[in-house]
Amino acid sequence: MARLLERDAVEGLRAADRAVLARIITLLESTRDADRALAETVLDEALVQERARPRPAIRVGITGPPGVGKSTLIEALGKHILERGLRLAVLAIDPSSQRTGGSILGDKTRMPQLAVEPRAFVRPSPSRAHLGGVAARTREAVLVCEAFGFDVVIVETVGVGQSETDVATMVDTFVLLAQPGAGDELQGVKRGIMEACDLVVVTKADGDHVTKARDAATDLQSALRVFGPRPAGLTPQVLLASGLTGVGIPELLTAIVQHHDHVQSRGGVLARHADDRLRFFRALIHEHLERVFLRTHAEALADLEARVARGELTPTRAMEQLLNK
Ligand code: GDP
Repeated sequence: MARLLERDAVEGLRAADRAVLARIITLLESTRDADRALAETVLDEALVQERARPRPAIRVGITGPPGVGKSTLIEALGKHILERGLRLAVLAIDPSSQRTGGSILGDKTRMPQLAVEPRAFVRPSPSRAHLGGVAARTREAVLVCEAFGFDVVIVETVGVGQSETDVATMVDTFVLLAQPGAGDELQGVKRGIMEACDLVVVTKADGDHVTKARDAATDLQSALRVFGPRPAGLTPQVLLASGLTGVGIPELLTAIVQHHDHVQSRGGVLARHADDRLRFFRALIHEHLERVFLRTHAEALADLEARVARGELTPTRAMEQLLNK
């Protein structure tokens, strides 16, 4: 593919040209300095475009273990969103692709029906890390999608590792998908995610699974009560849905929109986005300073590390000596 030029990128962004959107997201993944410089210029423009929006996009995070029914549900929810006249972007974070080169999520063919819709955009989120890691690239991709004018941006993440905690802080509404297990247990529901979610959806509530799904929903509702209300003041609702039959999908969208409106009315989605940007800014500073510091003091550090390792110096004393340099 020919290299994306600055003029094309910026004009494509202004014109909301989807072919350019795909290329910009590819650009965000690049670790080459020249690409990174262009990416930063594009992001400057995206910020301008995003701020010019009449209203913020609805950012939705969707998480759950592999096999819980995320792509099936997102496809059903996505079609419903499009029927309501809204434009939708779906970014899927796939943590496995960084480590193994393989992929749990696969590519966009996971959501074949959405992928062909002209008002939808489906993409794996950049998974290669530069400064700030995968979460940084995902934030940037979300910003670019918002600048392109999408009304709803869904960030999908597999319930593995760090990515879901990162996503929880960058979206307005964080949705956890759970499915009843073979026994009575809920599969793959971790405490940390329970605490961070705004909505829970018990998936595959169809056919023979309905009773089990209802029981699971009751269990989840009482488990969630233990954590009390979320910072926005709402206790997470538990919904039942089936991506296969479409049962519960309109209710899910209503709950997402209501939650968004509620957050908006309580100090606003924009304040939440501002918090997230600041948190990210500090994380970047931290990462950058650490990198510069360690590089600048590499020699002294090697010496001090050896002495700490040999037990000649406590870590605190070594730290003091390093700072005194
Ligand atoms: P993901 O890995 O979380 O994205 O899950 P998928 O959407 O790929 O679904 C995993 C499996 O569950 C597939 O075999 C689907 O056919 C099945 N599945 C997904 N959603 C539903 C549903 O609503 N009802 C039923 N019965 N099966 C479903």
